[in-house]
Amino acid sequence: MFAGTVQQMRGPSAEPGPSSQSNLVAIAKVAALQPFNRPVTKATHKSCTCRKCGVGSCQGKKEVKYCLNMCQDCGLKNCKGRNSKKPQIPCREGWSD
Ligand SMILES: [Zn+2]
Ligand SMILES: [Zn+2]
Repeated sequence: MFAGTVQQMRGPSAEPGPSSQSNLVAIAKVAALQPFNRPVTKATHKSCTCRKCGVGSCQGKKEVKYCLNMCQDCGLKNCKGRNSKKPQIPCREGWSD
């Protein structure tokens, strides 16, 4: 089928250059050298999160009244969140005294 067209297709563009071959090898080497122990910076829950919902991107981290999410502790939307003086204590116990 291609017997007559093979000679016409022969050209410099059809030749696989050696440069492309070595390029693939280089990419594979780089991928293999990727370190497995990447420094994973875990977000520690400090004061940079909303006191009510606990989301860092929430507007409520500035003032709880701006929070539109549910409380992380009681699940209520009209909750005022945790006491800023006791951020480790859930909302219900944080304001008890
Ligand atoms: Zn919030
Ligand atoms: Zn609550």
